[in-house]
Amino acid sequence: MNKGTKLYSIVNNKCPKCHEGQFFNTNSSYDLQHFSEMPDECPVCGQTYMPEPGFYYGAMYVSYGINVAIFVTVWVATNVLFRDGLGVWWLVLASIIAGLALMPVSFRWARLIWINFFVKYDAQSAARNREKLPVT
Ligand SMILES: [Zn+2]
Repeated sequence: MNKGTKLYSIVNNKCPKCHEGQFFNTNSSYDLQHFSEMPDECPVCGQTYMPEPGFYYGAMYVSYGINVAIFVTVWVATNVLFRDGLGVWWLVLASIIAGLALMPVSFRWARLIWINFFVKYDAQSAARNREKLPVT
């Protein structure tokens, strides 16, 4: 996948501006103790990860969309796998299990997609930030 596309940032857990720094501290969505931890700003280019208070409330709309996609996928899959489909309560149960199992992934993708709406890729941002740092 090409660096410079928003999908690169979202899939690879990278800063939306420089595509080099980590967005979340851990690369594993299933490190359940730490999967949601993120630094205040990008360690490479200095882009703040909290542009304004409550910024990530908007990510709930993205998360809603991701979960609708998960539920539709479960519905289609159960109708393909089981000739007559599942009963409605089995479908609800399967959707809840899939939603919970994928919750760490949907949480992280929702935040990454949300910040990628507002922050554009800037290939020079990392170099500019390095020049500002004092030489040791
Ligand atoms: Zn960055």
